[in-house]
Amino acid sequence: MVALDRAHVWHPYGPMPGRTDPLVVESASGVRLRLAEPVHGHAELVDGMSSWWSAVHGYNHPVLNDAARGQLERMSHVMFGGLTHEPAVRLATRLVEITPEPLRHVFLCDSGSVSVEVAVKMCLQYWRSTGRPDKRRLLTWRGGYHGDTWQPMSVCDPEGGMHDLWAGVLPRQVFADAPPAGHDLPYDPAYGDHLRELVARHADELAAVIVEPVVQGAGGMRFHSPAYLRVLREACDEHDVLLVLDEIATGFGRTGRLFAAEHAGISPDVMCLGKALTGGYLTMAAALCTERVADGISRGEVPVLAHGPTFMGNPLAAAVACASIDLLLSQDWQQEVKRLETGLREGLGEAAGIDGVRDVRVLGGIGVVQLDHPVDMAAATEAAVREGVWLRPFRDLIYTMPPYVTGDADLALITRAVRAAAAAG
Ligand code: PMP
Repeated sequence: MVALDRAHVWHPYGPMPGRTDPLVVESASGVRLRLAEPVHGHAELVDGMSSWWSAVHGYNHPVLNDAARGQLERMSHVMFGGLTHEPAVRLATRLVEITPEPLRHVFLCDSGSVSVEVAVKMCLQYWRSTGRPDKRRLLTWRGGYHGDTWQPMSVCDPEGGMHDLWAGVLPRQVFADAPPAGHDLPYDPAYGDHLRELVARHADELAAVIVEPVVQGAGGMRFHSPAYLRVLREACDEHDVLLVLDEIATGFGRTGRLFAAEHAGISPDVMCLGKALTGGYLTMAAALCTERVADGISRGEVPVLAHGPTFMGNPLAAAVACASIDLLLSQDWQQEVKRLETGLREGLGEAAGIDGVRDVRVLGGIGVVQLDHPVDMAAATEAAVREGVWLRPFRDLIYTMPPYVTGDADLALITRAVRAAAAAG
């Protein structure tokens, strides 16, 4: 199977034909991935990645399985043009209930990147419809990541990031410096002024500011003070620019708040959600907007949002998303994320003494060890697998965001594996 995989199957950011042998996962349950062949004596690996932020409840969860099965018996998909169904309506209503006021309208789409595309289209179309078509650029800060399709790529970290190949071809956006790294750092007025000044200077051409709140994920796993989100909200209000928060990674509790915007007590004009939306079961994302944005678009010469993917509102994904949200909110999830935070702080704290480790940081259910050199991915992954844990290091980072259901013993395994990977990588 691995030979066929290497010959025919693209993997994320992978070459063709493949150059490394991926592990074959046969099934997954709870926090464990069962391998087709044992590796270093492990038939199962503890998942330290939640399948890239998404599988917050772990795998093969009976509640989510029931939701998927129940919906499968009724209807797995139906076109969304001119038709609607209960799971999509229930999901949209639920999202409006749990996200910050005054987000009110929900566009369901099929991946995080597409939700960012939709968010950007909403903003550009809003200004075009309200008579200011020149407002079509975006401002973001360096070090960000918003996905792999065209508009999202244009607001990813422009230097040393994942999309350097397309520099000069992508739309030219406005970049602020990255926020000072450190969630608990005191507010830096000079940086606040930098943000205000850039928004003011470019206001006439800016459709929106788009940022990841509190955690910059795939651009470097950096945390920043929520104070800068308040600065952006104020600057956007003052200069008539929309604010988009990309909560695709941070949404649904990962940072200790249901949405990271809550750390700052602000609400965006448009919010993107994905990843944990369906508990990692199915591919679905959403772009939510306010009445103001929807109303502006509706007043335009083309009074519709011109976007309508085939699998929009997929009922299976919507039913599982509803079940995942209900499951999350029916528990003391804050306590669970706090428990992860404590375990990660304890377990990763020791990594600070490892040769070549530059920084160790933890926020909510996210733990990061940053090296002072590019990680040897193969060696670091191998070291984690030897400990019976699945990790996916990248750049100079070894990081983990375990499922919320990870027990203390498994969490200790994960932090030990991160330390081993840091020492090996
Ligand atoms: N925005 C952020 C903040 C992300 O972390 C990601 C995924 N890593 C995306 C957008 C893109 O989402 P997807 O991979 O589902 O397209």
